[in-house]
Amino acid sequence: MIIVLLGPPGAGKGTQGELLAARLGIPKIATGDLFRAAVRDGTPLGVEARKYMDRGDLVPDSVILGILREAMASPEAARGAILDGAVRTVPQAEGLADVLKSIDRKVDAVLLFDANHAELIRRLSARTTCDTCQTPFKAFAPGTACPRNDGGRLIRRKDDEPEAIQNRLNVYEEQTAPVVAWYQTHEVPVERIDAIGDVTDVTMRAAEALKHVPRAD
Ligand code: AMP
Repeated sequence: MIIVLLGPPGAGKGTQGELLAARLGIPKIATGDLFRAAVRDGTPLGVEARKYMDRGDLVPDSVILGILREAMASPEAARGAILDGAVRTVPQAEGLADVLKSIDRKVDAVLLFDANHAELIRRLSARTTCDTCQTPFKAFAPGTACPRNDGGRLIRRKDDEPEAIQNRLNVYEEQTAPVVAWYQTHEVPVERIDAIGDVTDVTMRAAEALKHVPRAD
């Protein structure tokens, strides 16, 4: 089952994606996590991605499609994948559809996580993220050791600074929101999930929504 997670920054795609991936026994592919790891390791991909990420702008479509092509052909994704933040423009949605068609697969469903602006800004401004496992936390100051004891430290992401947050929300409205309509017109079921409330409740809503989606594998 291939599931695309959509929704504005701060809606909880990363957290919910991880929980859903564990429930379904398929990997989560989060392009943002891949880029942050590449930036940390100083690879050429990281150097390129960083030019866009710190300001909250999007990395070019060609870079994303290269990553998606490789990820979807990998043996780990043979039973499916949860794509977290990996489709953020209409050309990316089109490119992914072409990549999947060439291997006789398709996106089975889109989960659209929905939260109001005030809540998104509150969550993004308050969170710190582990520099190693990349898990976001809402109640710890920068510099704290990661509660998962992986040796990482919690940092404030550069793109969680106020100016970058506003830019990311604008970029979402302009470039990512139209992806919802693209999937609807291409007959991919789009399930809207209320992303406000307890993490477990949101996961239950998402799991419930996926029950209506026919499994191709
Ligand atoms: P995220 O962790 O999903 O919020 O992603 C962090 C940043 O990585 C984004 O603000 C973009 O700069 C970049 N990024 C991640 N995924 C994509 C994508 N599919 N298209 C363009 N840029 C992306």
